[in-house]
Amino acid sequence: MSAWGSFRLRRYSPFTDGSEHSTRGRGKPATPMIPHSRPTLAPQDIAAVTAVLESGWLAQGEATVAFEAMLASQVGGVGAVATSSGTAALHLALLALNVGPGDEVMLPSYVCTALLNAVRFVGATPILVDIEEEDYNLSPADVRRKLTRRTRVLLVPHTFGLAADLKQLSELGVPIVEDCAQALGATLDGQPAGGLADLAVFSFYATKVITTGEGGMVVTRSTALRDRIADLRDYADKEDDRVRYNYKMTDMQAALGLSQLKRLPTFVSRRRELAARYSRILSATKLILPCDLPGRPHIFYRYVVRMDQDVEACRERLAHRDVRAERPIFKPLHEYLGLRGGFPNTERAARISLSIPLYPSLSDEESDRVVQAVLEECDGRRAAAT
Ligand SMILES: *Cc1c(COP(=O)(O)O)cnc(C)c1O
Repeated sequence: MSAWGSFRLRRYSPFTDGSEHSTRGRGKPATPMIPHSRPTLAPQDIAAVTAVLESGWLAQGEATVAFEAMLASQVGGVGAVATSSGTAALHLALLALNVGPGDEVMLPSYVCTALLNAVRFVGATPILVDIEEEDYNLSPADVRRKLTRRTRVLLVPHTFGLAADLKQLSELGVPIVEDCAQALGATLDGQPAGGLADLAVFSFYATKVITTGEGGMVVTRSTALRDRIADLRDYADKEDDRVRYNYKMTDMQAALGLSQLKRLPTFVSRRRELAARYSRILSATKLILPCDLPGRPHIFYRYVVRMDQDVEACRERLAHRDVRAERPIFKPLHEYLGLRGGFPNTERAARISLSIPLYPSLSDEESDRVVQAVLEECDGRRAAAT
């Protein structure tokens, strides 16, 4: 392996329990820094990518078709279209539904900007909606309040790995695009997220449930939509000159995705095991902890705790102990749009939520360090007592 290659692997250390040593803190013994996210890679992932490289066919090809087929069948879709990112998947999903200028697309405020960008790509009007306090997902009551004749699509993320309750939302008669970027492997009443609506999008960015480095997918229950999306993804060899994109996935990425997808059950059970460890220990604190809801088992893509003290100060104390925690959403969308009022749950979530490291490649020892640090640095009672 080249020096560069071994440097990269050591730097991200996805195979081991983390070998990056921090030099932070004078006089403190160096401890391995625990990153907020880390991919979980195995030798078979490298073998899968290597096989594609050796085949000489690097661009979209057989591996992409196989990856699409496997994901579609896992979530109960009839077809899937792999893309270069989750954002591209969102864009194509909106185009396939003919969303454009004058149309309104509803989406939560407490979400990353990728969704807002996709709505703007097609020239539609974003209508921001508040979330539920309990599960961070879109508030059906606020959706109902903001529904108009021009509402064309509801963009519904399954936030942090807990499925949104789509039953109420699907009664409204507005097409739903599920955003499963954080929820591959999550279920609602036993049905996989991604198979609950006509269209679902996924992301395989490096920090997601499974990864292809960058990448995404649209899964659909309609062959007509599948064909339309596949057509828009690729500009080559078309009879007419309608605008099309280059949003293709490479076979190198798809081979990695397929190899990762085969291990999804292991990934999810390891996430749930780690979450149970955290929750056992942190249940003695005042922190509000994430948990399963009836009919909705959590995959703990993020383990987000809520606290009644300064989140930023807690985050800094954790960083000092070489445990990297993050605000799960950088900034609510309504703040970007300069909207004031009407988003009480979003604003509260942004103020009190902190995501702590949890991913399948986290070792038992690392998870012990994480939970000890959170116990000692983020529990309001202890902080007040010392
Ligand atoms: C990551 C993410 C996206 C965007 O995916 P990219 O692959 O980064 O473009 C969209 N929606 C949600 C909920 C995400 O977490």
